[in-house]
Amino acid sequence: MLSVLIPSIILTLARTVSADTCSSVEALRYINVTRPLDLAYIEEQTQYWSTSCSALLPSCIIFPKSAEEVSTVVKILANTTEKFAVKSGGHNPNNGFSSVKGGPLIVTEHLDQANLNQATGVIDVGPGNRLDGIAAKLQGSGWTFVGGRIGNTGVGGLVLGGGLSYMSAQYGWAASQVLEYEIVFANGTIGHINKNNYPDLFKALKGGGNNFGIVTNYRLQGQRQGNVWGGNLVYLRTPEKDKKLLKAVRDFTEYNDDPKAAVIVTAERTNLNLVDSWIIFLFYDGPSPPAGKFDNFTNVNPLLDTTRTRTYADLMALSNWVVLKGEVVDIATETIPIPSAEDEAKVMEILHSHWRNTTDTTLLEVGIVASIAWQPFPKAIAREARKRSPDLIDADDSVHRIIIEMNYAFTLQSSYDRMADKMEATYGGVRERVLGWQEDGTLPESYNPVFMNYGFFRQDYFGRLKPENRALAKRVQEQVDPDGLFRARTGGWRP
Ligand SMILES: Cc1cc2nc3c(=O)[nH]c(=O)nc-3n(C[C@H](O)[C@H](O)[C@H](O)COP(=O)(O)OP(=O)(O)OC[C@H]3O[C@@H](n4cnc5c(N)ncnc54)[C@H](O)[C@@H]3O)c2cc1C
Repeated sequence: MLSVLIPSIILTLARTVSADTCSSVEALRYINVTRPLDLAYIEEQTQYWSTSCSALLPSCIIFPKSAEEVSTVVKILANTTEKFAVKSGGHNPNNGFSSVKGGPLIVTEHLDQANLNQATGVIDVGPGNRLDGIAAKLQGSGWTFVGGRIGNTGVGGLVLGGGLSYMSAQYGWAASQVLEYEIVFANGTIGHINKNNYPDLFKALKGGGNNFGIVTNYRLQGQRQGNVWGGNLVYLRTPEKDKKLLKAVRDFTEYNDDPKAAVIVTAERTNLNLVDSWIIFLFYDGPSPPAGKFDNFTNVNPLLDTTRTRTYADLMALSNWVVLKGEVVDIATETIPIPSAEDEAKVMEILHSHWRNTTDTTLLEVGIVASIAWQPFPKAIAREARKRSPDLIDADDSVHRIIIEMNYAFTLQSSYDRMADKMEATYGGVRERVLGWQEDGTLPESYNPVFMNYGFFRQDYFGRLKPENRALAKRVQEQVDPDGLFRARTGGWRP
């Protein structure tokens, strides 16, 4: 018995007496480390979408400049027992996913390469980029990166969670474009993972989040890009507009047969309904949409219409007005199969009323902004994703779906738990109704994964995947991280 205990006691002692990661990395003198009170530290802590993440203060912030430096940091970390986090754009609002209290934070900001092969359109993109930054770097090249819709979002998390783009009906998820990942594993080795050398890990990285290592480069297939058409329509809410816009988004999901056209249909409310509006994002991957393409939206009398022809970089840069800073944010999601045209009003309006009824109970919360986004997930996205590359989401094209994203932004940190309960009631109510309608035949049977990038920490991301894909993710995780460096010491969903 003693002979079994002695090695583990020695290991524990070694860990206890070994310096913490921050001091050890600082001692190397060539990797940039900042401490609380440093300006760079304070500035970096403001670079979260949610102030609840900013409030979690890391022991230091480490800014590696290369995969080799990430490897050095990971090897040092592995000799400690500290909690840590990896942060790209900081847009995931779940506490502890890319934020950490009292442990080292690794920020990928200086891994900001965006190198294009002009002939092939293959782009090496570092996780330190944000979408508007890449769009600006690629502007004029004739190529684009199939990323998300709001410029300020980070590449690192967006691609690991799948990544829904305006161009997804043409090309699948952002992750569908990845040809190879450069990744630092828990033991510090640097791997280059593609479909041929490690097909299971390659698949697991597409929708598997931060479970397998720290990605230091995404080699992506870029797509041809000219000028685009897009912008917003803004409406003051009325019950009549609710009906028309809900019908419009359902019909667009089923009937739009032009993959270059995309919409996001959002509704938002603030304290005491001072704002009660709809804001719609329209996009066409070309200088102008075919006549009539968006009539069901433009005919509903928008108060404001900012749509026009522009560069993609311009669209990305201008999209940042939606990024509210200075608030705690909760985000959650549900995926639903669309109802038939006959059941449209019943399903869409009951779900929207559920959202309004639940948000009614939050409208006295200080600084509240409650929003819902109806995001078409037509069969074409599933088809294009599968055509390009296997991924964990593994959606079939048996039904058209809508991804519903629900957000609460509010001022007080002290409201965190209470608002988390509100959020659970919001997405839980959607789920409950959808399951009931699938049971009574109002909605078709379908596989409805939780879309990781909008997932709430209480949602069971891996539990909603197909069991075989969850099992694959678990098996791969155990192979590449047998001691659970990422599994046990950093936040996120685990297979
Ligand atoms: C305003 C806004 C708009 C959005 N629009 C879209 C959209 O159009 N489409 C879409 O799909 N999603 C969208 N999202 C959701 C977004 O994709 C997720 O929040 C995503 O996690 C953000 O990535 P990030 O790098 O900014 O996040 P972070 O918070 O930095 O990271 C998120 C997670 O990924 C991990 N991670 C980050 N980088 C790495 C790395 N290099 N290696 C390993 N793990 C890493 C982190 O540890 C963390 O667990 C949007 C979010 C916001 C706030």
